[in-house]
Amino acid sequence: MYDRFNRKINYLRISVTDRCNLRCVYCMPAEGVELMQHKDILRFEEIVEVVKYAVSQGVDKIRITGGEPLVKKGIVDLIRMIAEIDGIKDFGMTTNGIFLDKYAQQLADAGLHRVNISLDTINPEKYRKITRTGDITQVFKGIEAAKKAGLNPIKINCVVQKSFDEPDARDVAELCKNNNLQIRYINEMNLETGSFSVVNGGIGGNCSICNRLRLTANGDIMPCLFSDLRFNVRELGIEKAFKFAIGEKPKSGHVAKKSQFYSIGG
Ligand code: SF4
Repeated sequence: MYDRFNRKINYLRISVTDRCNLRCVYCMPAEGVELMQHKDILRFEEIVEVVKYAVSQGVDKIRITGGEPLVKKGIVDLIRMIAEIDGIKDFGMTTNGIFLDKYAQQLADAGLHRVNISLDTINPEKYRKITRTGDITQVFKGIEAAKKAGLNPIKINCVVQKSFDEPDARDVAELCKNNNLQIRYINEMNLETGSFSVVNGGIGGNCSICNRLRLTANGDIMPCLFSDLRFNVRELGIEKAFKFAIGEKPKSGHVAKKSQFYSIGG
């Protein structure tokens, strides 16, 4: 499917939960957040119907996000259900890696192709400070488990303040070089002020060639991360929600006053 700016839309990012086991300082307040009500969260069957429709319209790239997708009960079953849909060429997940040691092999066996793991430093104290609770040794174990399971490529999402030349980013880059991992530098974003930039090592943030839509855990199709436009699949039906989202996808991102990263999945 193409939008009115002739951009080919073939990528659907699916946030399966707004819950997370970490409290990263640039994503979630320390005290946590008011979570979505269970009744508002899409069931697996509903997510599968959305993916089937999206694939029938030309989507061939799917990414599972959160919150943290690996805190979602039955996540391996959902991966298996989505992997059974013909037409998905690229099936990935973005995770903080804390539970990857436990799930990597099951995810690979269920049909997941690859993972992006969030890691902004290799310093255990700094990692705990950034995530407010995280144990970095769990992430390192998760990376090893992902390698062993054959998830490939393994990309590291490294959030930087200003540039990839920051000491922590250089350390993470060195880790990636020594472990055959691909690094992506993500400048810290702000939905309210609309500050974002192109992901270094990816195409996220490059509005002129934007190829994505997002599905939130409560069923909103979002045409753009930096916009408050949302079209709910339960209210409008899947087909209409997609048609509105594609029809109203903005030329470029602006601001999103009503959104939070933890419930969209970046
Ligand atoms: S800001 Fe919106 S249009 Fe730009 S790349 Fe992100 S999602 Fe696409």
